[in-house]
Amino acid sequence: MSDRFFPNPYADYDEKAHGTEYHSIVSRSSVIDLIVKYVGMIQNHTQTKMREDLYVGTAGIAFMFWKLSRSEETKNLFPCLKLASKYITEAKHHSAKKHRSSKDSVAFLCGDSGIAAVSAVIAHSQGNGHDAENEVKIFLKGHPVCATDGGYEADEVLVGRAGYLHGSYWLNQTIASKPIANETVTAICKVIMTRGRRIAASLQTAAPLMYEYHKKTYLGAAHGICAILHALLESPWFDRDDDGQFCVSPTKLSDIKNTIDYVLTMQNHEGNFPTRHDSNRTLVHWCHGCGGAIYLFAKAYLTFKEEKYLQCCRKCADTIWHQGLLRKGPGICHGVAGNGYAFLLMYRLTGEKCYLYRAAKFTEFLNSPTFAEQLLAPDRPYSLYEGLAGTC
Ligand SMILES: [Zn+2]
Repeated sequence: MSDRFFPNPYADYDEKAHGTEYHSIVSRSSVIDLIVKYVGMIQNHTQTKMREDLYVGTAGIAFMFWKLSRSEETKNLFPCLKLASKYITEAKHHSAKKHRSSKDSVAFLCGDSGIAAVSAVIAHSQGNGHDAENEVKIFLKGHPVCATDGGYEADEVLVGRAGYLHGSYWLNQTIASKPIANETVTAICKVIMTRGRRIAASLQTAAPLMYEYHKKTYLGAAHGICAILHALLESPWFDRDDDGQFCVSPTKLSDIKNTIDYVLTMQNHEGNFPTRHDSNRTLVHWCHGCGGAIYLFAKAYLTFKEEKYLQCCRKCADTIWHQGLLRKGPGICHGVAGNGYAFLLMYRLTGEKCYLYRAAKFTEFLNSPTFAEQLLAPDRPYSLYEGLAGTC
């Protein structure tokens, strides 16, 4: 028995046996009951000292309430936007008291650009356009650092350029005026390309692009190349022009795609990826391994329409099914909810019921007595990325 995950106790999907079973597992009322229970636990425990960021801090709790405000099913369960506003104000207050560096102005999941983005979106949802604009201006303070090669060494998602890009895309998806200009985005993408080519050349990797975080060539979604490549695929370079062609130059296109194909070659027979380019260690998390890599390959499939990327996603999903009921808790970074979310992605990508069934079974497990004892295992058990806020 692995010390990392619970053996999956459920039979896999069989249409004859399970045709509609997932309907009752994920009944509206059972999900709502879980959310009410979790939100109650979060509210009882967030008075104690928390960090302020999205990853494990009060901004993450604010994001959760904003997200609950977006669903017809949950928006009236709590005064969602009022609570979102309360938590984000707290996050800003704590952040303002600290000495802030250029790193903080860039960092999305673990710093101030994330707090500003969530604050902008909450203000926008409350119909407060003026405050939303001001928060976008604060978010944009991170741009000069991101768009400069040198001086700031992180390209990954938690504190680096890719996280800032994902934040920019989220602001443009969420705020109708699309406040982040295409040129603002592509200036950062160009720096990411230059840096990736330089690191690949210095390490003599077969891939045209490579990235390091604290001198380590991580592959996974948190610190590694998967989420960086994903951020490039989401850029305006991959919009189609009038002739249906990508807007990206042929050399950039080939470097990005060849690097994705290189990462694809690192998928092992189980369907997982090593944590680092130069390692054989594997984990089934969002932060490291197939639980996060799947998002890159889903995006690659949607972008390039090549079957091999979908096959890669299917293998990731199979590994998650067998090894994804993590003992580390309910979170989305290295927990059961994060791994279960990959099945919802696969269901949206393929429409196949087996993935909805698997997601439902992971939800069922979250509510099982076996798991209840482990619920508070992570360091920050109520937070967005490690705890119950992400589960909600
Ligand atoms: Zn993690």
